[in-house]
Amino acid sequence: LSQRLSGILDGLTRRGALSATDVDTAMREVRRALLEADVALDVARSFIERVRERAVGVDVIKSVTPGQMVVKIVHDELVTTLGSDAQAIDLNAPAPVAIMMVGLQGSGKTTTTAKIAKRLTDLGKRKVLMASLDTRRPAAMEQLAVLGKQVEVDTLPIVQGQTPPQIAKRAIEAAKLGSYDVVILDTAGRITLDEAMMAEAADVKRAADPHEVLLVADALTGQDAVNLARSFDERVGLTGIVMTRVDGDGRGGAALSMRAVTGKPIKLIGTGEKMDALETFDPARIAGRILGMGDIVSLVEKAAANIDAEKAARTAERMRKGAFDLTDLREQLTQMQKLGGLGGLMGMIPGVAKMKNQLAAANLDDSLLKRQCAIIDSMTPKERRNPDILKASRKKRIAAGSGTKVEEINKLLKMHRGMADMMKAMGGAKRGPMAGLANA
Ligand code: GDP
Ligand code: MG
Repeated sequence: LSQRLSGILDGLTRRGALSATDVDTAMREVRRALLEADVALDVARSFIERVRERAVGVDVIKSVTPGQMVVKIVHDELVTTLGSDAQAIDLNAPAPVAIMMVGLQGSGKTTTTAKIAKRLTDLGKRKVLMASLDTRRPAAMEQLAVLGKQVEVDTLPIVQGQTPPQIAKRAIEAAKLGSYDVVILDTAGRITLDEAMMAEAADVKRAADPHEVLLVADALTGQDAVNLARSFDERVGLTGIVMTRVDGDGRGGAALSMRAVTGKPIKLIGTGEKMDALETFDPARIAGRILGMGDIVSLVEKAAANIDAEKAARTAERMRKGAFDLTDLREQLTQMQKLGGLGGLMGMIPGVAKMKNQLAAANLDDSLLKRQCAIIDSMTPKERRNPDILKASRKKRIAAGSGTKVEEINKLLKMHRGMADMMKAMGGAKRGPMAGLANA
C-alpha cells in the first residue's frame, strides 16, 4: 500500500516548474492507465507525446506534487481531446431528416435506434419513423417493431424480399408521405469488420443520403476500435459516434481511439438496456474512466485546498532528519482527516477502493483516526517528544483521558515506532512513506 501511495502521490518535495523527469515519471503511470483502458497503442503514444510537450515547464500549484500535477494536466487534455466540440444529433436539414446507424452486430444499433427515437419524440415532440434494414437476421426487424411499440414510435411495415437500399428508399418515401420529421435507418451488422458489411452500408448511404451517420460501438471494444472507426469513416463516412455499454466494465479507451482516428464527435452514450439509458456524452466522465486514477483530480483539488503546506514541509524536514515524534504523527493524522479520512483518501486511490473491506477489517477507519488523535492529544508535550517514557501508569492516564484502551495506545506507539524506524533507515532519503502527503 505505501508503495502505491508513494507511487501515485509521488513524494517529490520541491515545487516550481515541472521538469522533464517529473513528467516522464508520471507519464509511465498514465501510459499504463491508457493501455489498461484499451486505448489503441498508437493513439496512446501520440497522446502522451503531445501532453509531455505541454506539461514540461508548467508551474506546480502549491500543495500538489509534480506527479499529481501531471495527472491533472493529462486529465484536462483528455477532456479537451474527447469533447472540445461536444455535439448533439444534428437535425438541421429538410424533413424527413435521415439518421443511419452502423456498427458491428451486437454493438447496440437497434437498441440505440429506439432510444434515440424515444428521446426525439419525448423532448421535441418530433414525429419519428424507424426502419430496420437488417435482412440478415429474421428476428431483427421484429425486434425493432417490438421496441417501437414499447417506446410508442412508428416502425416501417415489414416487407419481405427487399434489399437494404430498397428498404431505405421505401422508408424515406413513407416518411415523406406520413410527414415524419426524422427517419432512423437501423442497418445490419456483422460479427467482424468485413467487406460485405462495408459495401452494404455504403450502398444504403448512397440510396438514403442520410444527414447523420452514427457509428455505434461498444465501450468494451479494445484495440480494434481504431480499425472499426477508421474503416467505417473511410468507406461510409461518419458524422458521429455513439458509445454503448458505458454502464459495464469497459474503461472507455475506445472513445479516445475512435475520436483520434476519425476526428468525429462522440455524441451520445448508452448506459443500460432500458430505453431511457441514453445520455449526452460527458468527456470528463469518460476521461476519469480512462485514467482510472481513482478521483485523483479531485484529490489534487482537495489537497490544494486543505493542506497547510508550510506545516507539512516542516514535518517533512523533521522526518528526513529522523526526528519524527508523536506531534509529527498527530500532524500526519490531521492531514489524513482533512482529506476525508482514510476512507476518503483510500477511495481516491485506484485499486485501493477494492481493498476497503480489508481496511475495515484491519480497523483502519475514520473512527480509528479520531481515536488516535485523541490519544496523542491526551499526552503531555514531554510524552509526545519522548514516547519512551510512556510506562503503564502514564498509559492508564492517557487511556482514561482519551476514552480509549491501553491496548490501543500500544498499537499506536508501535505504529509510530515503525514509521520512525523506517524514516531513520531511509535517512536523508528524499521521501518518507508519507512524504507524498506531507509535501503534497
Ligand atoms: P445490434 O446488433 O447492434 O442491433 O445490437 P442490439 O441493439 O440488438 O443490442 C445487443 C444487446 O446489447 C441487447 O441485449 C441490448 O439490450 C444490449 N445493449 C445495447 N445497448 C446497451 C447499453 O448501453 N448498455 C447495456 N448494458 N446493454 C446494452
Ligand atoms: Mg440490430
